[in-house]
Amino acid sequence: MLFMDTASIAQTVLQIVWPVICAHCREDLPKNHNGPLCLACRQTLLPHEPPFCLRCADRVTEGMDFCPRCDGKPHECRLIRSVFQYREAAVSLVHAFKFRGRRSAARAAGTWMGFALDRYPEIEGIDALVPMPLHPARRRERGYNQALLMAETLSATSGIPVKEIVRRTRATKPQWALGREARAENLADAFALAVPADDVKEKRLLLVDDVCTSGASLEACAKVLNDAGAAWVGGYSLVRQTGRDS
Ligand SMILES: [Zn+2]
Ligand SMILES: [Zn+2]
Repeated sequence: MLFMDTASIAQTVLQIVWPVICAHCREDLPKNHNGPLCLACRQTLLPHEPPFCLRCADRVTEGMDFCPRCDGKPHECRLIRSVFQYREAAVSLVHAFKFRGRRSAARAAGTWMGFALDRYPEIEGIDALVPMPLHPARRRERGYNQALLMAETLSATSGIPVKEIVRRTRATKPQWALGREARAENLADAFALAVPADDVKEKRLLLVDDVCTSGASLEACAKVLNDAGAAWVGGYSLVRQTGRDS
């Protein structure tokens, strides 16, 4: 069940007096349409479809099961799946909840993630959705954790409960701004368990994130959960940037 905080009420009131615009083409949306995208822009969102690496979902050439970085190598995060390619309207959608404070965009994204979950029968028997944590300072600045909002609406369509069981121990630089080695260093010890290890033991957990760039954050988070005895950890992101190193 979603509850309405003060900011959401303020946003609703604003929408009554101020028309809501499409997060991509900026056209006014029809009354009672919460967006974040108009129908035409919504239809341009491209699904992230095979061929992709069966572990990390990065692009592979037709006929290959795994990318060279995953082939034969064990990972903490057993698989990553994503809903949309990170292009055009999908970029605007992410910017809407990441930089423009549009909570409704994150909630809609979570609903679409819920509908798309059927595409991935390999994600099964999940005990809990685990939103990727934000550092408290960044969460305060933004007013919310977009991954939590997405997980909440994904939970409403999938029936899988949300558990905030990982926390950030320190602020990190945005991963996209860093090279390969700096990324791993940036994330070292950046996550910790927020609950007793008994709550994680033998659980099958799905990390929920907005953008998956290299998978390094999911990997670091999954390590914390595996160290606490999780049975299986996977990652599910709204969009997947492909062709980046990990
Ligand atoms: Zn539009
Ligand atoms: Zn891969």
